[in-house]
Amino acid sequence: MTVRTRIAPSPTGDPHVGTAYVALVNYCFAKKHGGQFLLRIEDTDRARSTSESERAILDSLHWLGLSWDEGPDVGGPHGPYRQSERGAIYREHIQMLLDAGHAFKCFCTPERLEEMRVAQRAAAQPPRYDGLCLTYDREEIARREAAGEPYVVRMRVPGEGVCVVEDLRRGAIEFEWKTVDMQVLMKSDGMPTYHLANVVDDHLMEITHVIRGEEWVSSAPKHILLYRYFGWEMPKLMHLPLLRNPDKSKLSKRKNPTSILFYQRMGYLPEALLNFLGLLTVNSADGNEIMDLHELIGRFEFEHISLGGPVFDVPKLNWLNGRYIREMLDVPSFIKRVEAWAGDEAKLANILTLAQARIERLSDLGSLIAFFFQGRVSVRADELRDGKLDDENLRKAFQLSLWEIDGLRDWNVSSVEGALKRVADALGKKFRDVARPFYLAVTGSPTSVPLYDAMAIIGRDIVRERLRVALDTLGGASNKEQNAWKSLIAGAGERAEALS
Ligand code: GLU
Repeated sequence: MTVRTRIAPSPTGDPHVGTAYVALVNYCFAKKHGGQFLLRIEDTDRARSTSESERAILDSLHWLGLSWDEGPDVGGPHGPYRQSERGAIYREHIQMLLDAGHAFKCFCTPERLEEMRVAQRAAAQPPRYDGLCLTYDREEIARREAAGEPYVVRMRVPGEGVCVVEDLRRGAIEFEWKTVDMQVLMKSDGMPTYHLANVVDDHLMEITHVIRGEEWVSSAPKHILLYRYFGWEMPKLMHLPLLRNPDKSKLSKRKNPTSILFYQRMGYLPEALLNFLGLLTVNSADGNEIMDLHELIGRFEFEHISLGGPVFDVPKLNWLNGRYIREMLDVPSFIKRVEAWAGDEAKLANILTLAQARIERLSDLGSLIAFFFQGRVSVRADELRDGKLDDENLRKAFQLSLWEIDGLRDWNVSSVEGALKRVADALGKKFRDVARPFYLAVTGSPTSVPLYDAMAIIGRDIVRERLRVALDTLGGASNKEQNAWKSLIAGAGERAEALS
């Protein structure tokens, strides 16, 4: 048997360091066993998936030095590798489940489902579809369909008994079937859900080992059942611990940047970041901590992955990156790296276009444009407070701006302008009256080149981090405040949730 593993990212945001970590584990495991590693794009959520995000995920994994034997960009015999292009395959498999009675059409309206959930909550029962549509006979179903009632397709789930999930690292994990929901497999618009598409694709793509984040453990019973319904052999499962902050909380944007683009723009070397992530998967007790991909593959063992949660320890990453810069690059290679990082001509041209109108001597450029090349900029609380906004409004302005920029689909001058204007509106002010703290947070100075243009050039990740640091400098926003402020920005609630 050839080992085949995969990474299956959803292109709904920035490329996450957690995705790189899971990809690296899958890669090392496959290569250690002479197998293949695939990349599949799970873009069934059409509203949230973007081609920019897909591009950024592929580019950043390549940047880190990872490659795949099959995928949307390189092709392969099991394609297409983008779920949005596999609709007919999923429809065919849904029909197989319906024909065999393993799945059923559910006509329940969102209102009825909500009433059901409220009643279940009141009775302290686990949230689970109550099976009403399972009681309909053939005529009733045909009548509803003929009347054009929208429906979803759900999978049948046993009402009793226990499902045992065998995890390669965690052993047997038991779930009572009565706590497993009758999962929707196909939405009313005919799109499959993650569960169906993921299982069908893993099977058709001949994946032998599904290695993914632990947040998917609770989905495993549904997947096991689907494999059983289809009569397919189950791949081996392994759920990886999530990356954590040093305080052991889940790595989240609230405390640490999580986008690979941030680390790229900060000037980390890809081989150092890869080495750092790799150290979370190998035993380096012999004191050797500098390892390339080849060595990581050689040393890889599941047993080395700490289930307590690997810590994304930024000081350690800094130390490792420094060693790579000082010890692993000769001067010509170092110069090449700096040129590649800072010497993007189009970017430089954009920066100089903004700066020209604001200098008297060319030597003024240094201090004026340094912030474009920095990571964080230093800003003091008293400078931030020394303006028209009181403390609460200042913190509110930064918190709302974080939610706003997280919600932007595109990152450019006009989208950034729109975001900051909406923040000013939410505060009941004109943007020019609240601009000062934003200038300070983003550029390090109360006056500089035009802010929206500067933000567009610096990039979302670094801007986000600077705004987050400014908010932290002022003491942050408590959970209570965040809850109270969420309603001021459309969609902020879900984003706050996704971040927590
Ligand atoms: N699309 C899922 C994700 O974004 C894949 C999970 C899995 O590997 O099964 O994480």
